[in-house]
Amino acid sequence: MPKMMSQNMAVQPLTLTLGHLYPDQLNLYGDRGNILTLRRRCQLRGIELKVVGLGVGDALAPDEYDMLFIGGGQDKEQAPVAQDLYEMKGIGLWAAIEDDMPVLAVCGGYQLLAHYYRPAEGPDMRGLGVFDAWTEHKGPKSPRCIGNIAISWNGQTLVGFENHGGRTYLGTAKPLGKVIKGNGNNAEDQTEGAVYRHTYGTYLHGSLLPKNPHFADYLIELALQRKFADQSFTDTGIFNGNHADNAAGIGSTVLELQKTIVSPLLTPLEDSLEWEAHASILERLGLYSEAANVLRTHRS
Ligand code: GLN
Repeated sequence: MPKMMSQNMAVQPLTLTLGHLYPDQLNLYGDRGNILTLRRRCQLRGIELKVVGLGVGDALAPDEYDMLFIGGGQDKEQAPVAQDLYEMKGIGLWAAIEDDMPVLAVCGGYQLLAHYYRPAEGPDMRGLGVFDAWTEHKGPKSPRCIGNIAISWNGQTLVGFENHGGRTYLGTAKPLGKVIKGNGNNAEDQTEGAVYRHTYGTYLHGSLLPKNPHFADYLIELALQRKFADQSFTDTGIFNGNHADNAAGIGSTVLELQKTIVSPLLTPLEDSLEWEAHASILERLGLYSEAANVLRTHRS
């Protein structure tokens, strides 16, 4: 039975919109799985995640999105995308980034947010320069950085799979994390990825968010904080019990957003499978104590 509402109290569904840049060109190693994970984790909290694909030729209007995602691709797919990213989407993307929109860029997408990517063959691809960093492929004979990878991030681990020929070197850009096992940015300095405001570049591919629920929730929280932190929720009807879908937890969750930025803001989910997957990558990399620690922490 529908709940009673006062006349002028409109119930708004809690919705986030994610712009998926170049879904057809940049989608290696299950990058799309990152989006499925975000959508599912939102859905379980009564949040609808709308996903809008942005291909070559589409402009990026920053006000239409709450999050952005760019996946990885081979060099031949990256080249036309690089030009479009710079010419069609550059200004909108910069505006979104400067306005603290959470942006996740994986591998080829990450490379294009730095100054340039110099492939093994062919001309340099100009990047947006969001990260003060650059990427160079050392030539067709140089070995690729391939395999499972674990990094430390915010006192925890992130695991994933990497496969890149380019080596990224950070200027003043802050790394996302420190490599524990694997190659990361360049197989030399133990840095992995880069961070600018709420934009995260990383070489960790498609299993990133499925196997790292803490990082997935972190991105969702950033989007919620940015979108809702300055709104009066009592006026929306979402957070006073009138919104049935949200009664289970998201209401109080986002009410907290108004007060302070404290983690965890989102209702916890049953993530034992995700943490098993996380721990199994750590174990495969020989990181036994880290794996045991993850299982101990998340089983209890
Ligand atoms: N073409 C880039 C490289 O090999 C990116 C690869 C990828 O996105 N997996 O360095």
